Amino acid sequence: MPAKDFNRRSFLRTSAGAAGGLAAATFWADATLDAAVQNVNRNSKPSDLRITDMRIAVVEKAPMLCPILRIDTNQGIYGLGEVRDGSSKTYALLLKSRILGENPCNIDRIFRKIKQFGGDARQGGGVCGIEMALWDLAGKAYGVPVYQMLGGKFRDKIRCYADTTESNDPKIYGARLKARKDQGFTWLKMDLGIDLLKDTPGTLSHPLGFVPTMGDRTQHMFTGAELTDKGAAMMGDFVAQVREQVGMEVPLSADHFGHIGVNSCIRLGKALEKYNMAWLEDMVPWQYPELLKKISDAVDVPILTGEDIYLKEHFIELARMHAVDILHPDLATSGGILETKKIGDAIGELGVPMAMHFAGSPVACMANVHCAAATENFLVLENHSVDVPWWGDLVEGVEKPIINHGFITVPETPGLGVTLNDEVMKKHLREPGYFEPTNEWDKERSNDRLWS
Ligand SMILES: [Mg+2]
Repeated sequence: MPAKDFNRRSFLRTSAGAAGGLAAATFWADATLDAAVQNVNRNSKPSDLRITDMRIAVVEKAPMLCPILRIDTNQGIYGLGEVRDGSSKTYALLLKSRILGENPCNIDRIFRKIKQFGGDARQGGGVCGIEMALWDLAGKAYGVPVYQMLGGKFRDKIRCYADTTESNDPKIYGARLKARKDQGFTWLKMDLGIDLLKDTPGTLSHPLGFVPTMGDRTQHMFTGAELTDKGAAMMGDFVAQVREQVGMEVPLSADHFGHIGVNSCIRLGKALEKYNMAWLEDMVPWQYPELLKKISDAVDVPILTGEDIYLKEHFIELARMHAVDILHPDLATSGGILETKKIGDAIGELGVPMAMHFAGSPVACMANVHCAAATENFLVLENHSVDVPWWGDLVEGVEKPIINHGFITVPETPGLGVTLNDEVMKKHLREPGYFEPTNEWDKERSNDRLWS
């Protein structure tokens, strides 16, 4: 029996029963009080904790860009967070003046103050990075892991799927996915784009002279590009060859189809039905829920979106319409740890599961891990860094390797559970300097009110 439990039970026995119990009760009450606060960081008096600074170090080639932020306080403890992958650190820095002097333990209050400065995709990165760091700070101040403050765990290990380098040769791509399975991953994802068709006549119609490419900024419905039956069959055949290597049992998701029209999405979805895909991702932009619903209703393969959506409201709308089968927030865009748990809980009540999009350093990874642990309808968490040998070395304090046979163990230490390995961090910085002063952002302000 842990000492704390023993003390508490002894105290209850003593104070409830005894005739001459007053002196004893007083003694045990003191002991119990000590036990109750023994995990609170002694450097910290949470009610007097204040934010004094925010600084950023930008890691590159992880393989993505990871702006890692540190929020400092008047009591020596700090919180770590991360701006969304590939995003500008400016999204966080412009919020510095809004959080200085605040008590970081008032996470929701600060989130509501700054959320007006976030937006979809990378624009949400600053608000979410700060929110993660506030949870890290609150956890350290009170001595508890973040998942515990969210209501506790549904699971001790978080299932991951990994990004896998593409090949236009299905044998090579299949072998790479099989290698992921052999590493212990229990869920796989592949990219499956119309670029596979570019050398095969009769597979894709498009306005002559305009070949839609993967990076094209013209939205799917406006390219005029449509798959032929032959093209859809060829993409289906590619998946068939991958399935031959990985088997039919493991869930296999697919993304990055290219910018083809809604009817072609349906044609492709039907061609893929017999390969039992786990989901088809972002077939058209999330801003068109009726079009997603049209695709979802037409094919018997789960349809998914969500990695670019900021705040819970659009997720709930998509779930309420059943426009997609699965939602896929990126916690560094969707509003941070608490907002993402709220998203999971709200869509779960509508029968929709939550997968989690993620590309970033182990700092944001752990924010995802705590949220995934505490959210009932969680399915699987993405990771893009399995092939980056130093990725896990960026931090200390958690079990290594961080992803072990396809799962991440939920940390039990206060806050997010990681500290930075400064030496490794400094080897992978994008720009000179390491958490340099940011005083130029201390006084940035506007009249922030949203209503009169
Ligand atoms: Mg995606």
